[in-house]
Amino acid sequence: MADIIQLLPDHVANQIAAGEVVQRPASVVKELLENSIDAGGHTIKLIIKDAGKTLIQVIDNGKGMSATDARLSFERHATSKIRSAEDLFSLNTKGFRGEALASIAAIAHVELKTKQEHDELGTIIEIEGSDIKKQEVTVTPTGTSLCVKNLFFNIPARRNFLKSNNVELRHIIDEFHRVALAHPDIEFSMYHNGSESFNLPKSNYRQRVVNIFGNKTNEKLVPVEEETEVLKISGFVGKPEFAKRTKSEQFFFVNNRFIKSAYLNHAISSAFEGLIKDGSHPSYFLNLTVDPKSIDINIHPTKTEIKFDDEHTLYAILRSAVKHSLGQFNIAPVLDFDRDRNLDTPYDFENKNASSPTVEVDRSFNPFQDEMSYRKSNRGNVSYKREPATQWESLYVGLESKGTKSSQNFTELQFESEPEHKSLFNDGNQLETTQTTYQLHNKYIISTIKSGMMILDQHRAHQRILYEGFLKHLTVKEAVSQQLLFPLSLDFSSTEMDILQNLKEDLEHTGFVFSSFSKKQIEITGVPINVPESEVSIILEQLISDVEQEVPDSNFSATDLLAKSMSKSLAIKTGQRLSRQEQEHMVNSLFGCKEPTVSPTNKVTFITMSVDDFDKKFI
Ligand code: ADP
Ligand code: MG
Repeated sequence: MADIIQLLPDHVANQIAAGEVVQRPASVVKELLENSIDAGGHTIKLIIKDAGKTLIQVIDNGKGMSATDARLSFERHATSKIRSAEDLFSLNTKGFRGEALASIAAIAHVELKTKQEHDELGTIIEIEGSDIKKQEVTVTPTGTSLCVKNLFFNIPARRNFLKSNNVELRHIIDEFHRVALAHPDIEFSMYHNGSESFNLPKSNYRQRVVNIFGNKTNEKLVPVEEETEVLKISGFVGKPEFAKRTKSEQFFFVNNRFIKSAYLNHAISSAFEGLIKDGSHPSYFLNLTVDPKSIDINIHPTKTEIKFDDEHTLYAILRSAVKHSLGQFNIAPVLDFDRDRNLDTPYDFENKNASSPTVEVDRSFNPFQDEMSYRKSNRGNVSYKREPATQWESLYVGLESKGTKSSQNFTELQFESEPEHKSLFNDGNQLETTQTTYQLHNKYIISTIKSGMMILDQHRAHQRILYEGFLKHLTVKEAVSQQLLFPLSLDFSSTEMDILQNLKEDLEHTGFVFSSFSKKQIEITGVPINVPESEVSIILEQLISDVEQEVPDSNFSATDLLAKSMSKSLAIKTGQRLSRQEQEHMVNSLFGCKEPTVSPTNKVTFITMSVDDFDKKFI
């Protein structure tokens, strides 16, 4: 039989490699920015059109390339950064695989213009799908300009696979942030469709963080500095009260390279333990410097994961450095790293004043009566509940709802059963005729129905009610809003502003009134009815975070997302005590909904149990 194995032609091999290196426009942005940094550029400009689908251009004033190098740079495994495998272990550059330009040129129209400082003239090369169309001498400034047009033009399946412009642009901005944060000493700018999105002058690290994430970031940064034999840490963590609902402000850089590490992230979360609410994520911008020999960056094709020789030590140092900073800046209550966590103040109690103990005297108590007759004679009296079991229970209720509700509810909570029980025993008749609902553990509403009983999850049920209300306002486009006495100004980063800008009209239809909507700040003069002023920033932050989380799914509807997000923020939480009218109103409103059975996120809102079900249990 004839031989059947053959070597793949270069352009096919390059296309295959491109699949690994270039997943989307943002991958090209990352590779080009990194090349410019490696070339020593101190001013780097990124120009994007249509979220990178039409054009990605990076211009630097770095060292440029000779005519031969310019040509060679598009060959696979062509790199100036390593010469032997050993070099991999002392790597100070971003690139080393020599794959990026070859891969990009295999799947796009590429134009390279480059000139070295001592040369009079530079080189221009045009390549389309690995085919060199032109190589000539040209007039161009020192440095390199690389222009990538029509990405995936020859792989329609990949092109169709790209997400909406909003989504692709977000990925590009994420890459831009990562690179810009790792190099505050380089000036970066970014333009999208002809307008400037970022202009980041050379600065110190704090200013760089603030320039990217907005002025309001400045006050939340706590410096972290630590130097040990194996690891140097410098950067910032966000104060606990500014913890975000997303992980969008979490950055680790190892030797100036952005990396993802769930393990090291855990070190930080554990340093914040007890200081932030469940479900919130601390912000951090941390640069770790380690001996290049102690890491292996080669394990991931897009190079965002690296392997450390001694992860456990790094974990411990990082955790204690962050704890130390939080302590030093008076943010953490105690400085002792090995303290017993059980003695820490739980989050809920943090800003609460201690209440002085009171002595209650039960005047009807007669020590000579035996216990049973004592109870009998006191039935209906508050003191009846003072038996140990009930006390334990109410104590438990408070602990159980830790972190899920406002502190105000907590005070109410401790005493929740008193008035209820009073009426339960004092006025049994009234109960039978009028009470059709009952609140259990400040979480469920129980209501009697013909066949037995129904149990509603108060948070989910309320979400459904609010959600349908918001959807109605959004479609009918007429909402009632309440005027604020003083306009409310809120600062956001430019990424957050982009998201809000896209939702502005929908927000207005729910009742928000904006008096100004500038690049980094909005001013609000009216809010939807029922939205407390103090909640506005939380609602908008939640909304931004929900949009960010939906980003991978380009099919989301902005209207639906807005309604979902706002109903989630505003719905009555578990742990909130409801009056009987409120309970009844909740039940009635839920059954006035179009889809009462599930919450907006498709979770069951209520269950029923029939008398038959009970009968079975009582066999
Ligand atoms: P790598 O960065 O892994 O070496 P690339 O394919 O990204 O591989 O680049 C190949 C080579 O082209 C680089 O090693 C570098 O010598 C050269 N090069 C790429 N971009 C630039 C640039 N902006 N300025 C100067 N040289 C560059
Ligand atoms: Mg490179």
